[in-house]
Amino acid sequence: MLRELERARLLDYDLIKNYVRLPVASQRQTIEWAHRRGIRASSHYLHPAITLGVDGMEHVGATNRLGYSQTVSRNGISYQDVISLFTAAGMPMTPTLFYSYALYATDSSLFTDRRVRALYPPWEYAKLAAAVALAKTADADGATAALRGWTATVTAILRGGGRIVAGTDSPIDNFGVSLHTNLRAMVHPGGLTPAEALRTATSQAADYLAVPDLGRITPGALADLTVLDGNPLDRIEDAANVRLIMLGGVPHSVDDLVSYVPPTPPTTAAAPTAVPAHPSQAAFWWHTEDFVKHAALCCSAPH
Ligand SMILES: [Zn+2]
Repeated sequence: MLRELERARLLDYDLIKNYVRLPVASQRQTIEWAHRRGIRASSHYLHPAITLGVDGMEHVGATNRLGYSQTVSRNGISYQDVISLFTAAGMPMTPTLFYSYALYATDSSLFTDRRVRALYPPWEYAKLAAAVALAKTADADGATAALRGWTATVTAILRGGGRIVAGTDSPIDNFGVSLHTNLRAMVHPGGLTPAEALRTATSQAADYLAVPDLGRITPGALADLTVLDGNPLDRIEDAANVRLIMLGGVPHSVDDLVSYVPPTPPTTAAAPTAVPAHPSQAAFWWHTEDFVKHAALCCSAPH
């Protein structure tokens, strides 16, 4: 582990995420190591990470090997103790709303977007095609219900005075487009205003990483800008309607971006590979068996 941390130092990491297999004592060691160097540390766990001084948690709830520290039920519900801990601590959650793919049932325009068709590698476009197809089946009803629960938690934390930082878990979720489905889901069904949702991906994300010259338009901040058609404060979907961007003082149009890449998407996706068997996967006492098996698969998706 010390060699990995040295690697993080040499590569100038901005954030270190403790994953589920790291023992609690090592999580504490990693968090303290990061803080000594001014680096943020996050965790897959709310508890015990919150008692170790961690700076944030990834996911409303995801892969979890401790059993006692689950933060969300199978149908997407978080109890009040979870919400209270986040609001009292002011510790950011990055929700990574995987179930936001359910929004493709009524709007799959991101899938047919010419930028996505041109820039996605074939295997990523196939994954997105599979998500769009799944959203249009009855199997997506559970995802829709869970998304309602997850976004209700996000809204309760934010409106309760807590902090939410947008994030997608790419490459496990689809690049680029999943940020937009996350923001859209925060607004509907989540109930946030578009401005509240957008701040999770701009000023609140910058504040979390302690980079005050990003994520806001103000004197002294970096002037890398995105110019949109429409008004995302009225209609969150307009955040994806990019006309041009300004990067380092140079404007780039969408035509510039996509013109050199041939649009050749395939139609099939590779199946994920299961992680090796582990004794902790033998018992299914808190969640149902298929949920635990899916959680084991989700960390080994091809990318
Ligand atoms: Zn994760």
